[in-house]
Amino acid sequence: MRLILLGPPGAGKGTQAQFLIDEFGIPQLSTGDMLRAAIAAETPLGLEVKDIIARGDLVPDETVVGIISDRLDEEDCKNGFILDGFPRTTAQAEALEVLLEDKGLSLDAVVEIKADADTLVARILKRAAESGGAREDDNEEVLRNRLDVYEELTAPLVEYYSGKGLVKSVDGMAGIEEVTASIMKALKG
Ligand code: AMP
Repeated sequence: MRLILLGPPGAGKGTQAQFLIDEFGIPQLSTGDMLRAAIAAETPLGLEVKDIIARGDLVPDETVVGIISDRLDEEDCKNGFILDGFPRTTAQAEALEVLLEDKGLSLDAVVEIKADADTLVARILKRAAESGGAREDDNEEVLRNRLDVYEELTAPLVEYYSGKGLVKSVDGMAGIEEVTASIMKALKG
């Protein structure tokens, strides 16, 4: 199963990915997690993206496409993968298509987790408070920017993938288990 999880920050992509990992035995490829790991390890990549992420802007397409390209070649991706937070722009989606084509692979579905902005702000600020503010980009100002960036650059991907007949939309405002059930139903249906 090769999936993309699409949805605004705080919609529950990470939470739902955890479930899908267990269900399908495939890894979650989160560009956000990979970039945060690079920042924590103070690698050249980490230094390059640190300020961009702190502002809530997107890191360059070439950077994330390179990371994903390498990651897809790893052994654990051979039975599939869950892309979480990638692609985030049309250029990334087009690059992914080329990457997959070169590897002789195709996507099975794009799961869109729908959620409304104001609820997301409340949800993420709660996550930040509970985790002791572990994420520098989980403050209200940066969060509003991340949501704006999502609307402007990432939301158009719903249409992009709808045109390919891949999108399955679920209501991300329901409880965690309900959202999981909707995703499973959408993937099986
Ligand atoms: P996330 O954990 O997916 O919310 O990502 C956190 C931050 O990492 C984003 O706000 C971006 O600055 C950066 N980021 C993660 N994935 C991407 C991507 N596919 N393209 C560009 N920037 C990304």
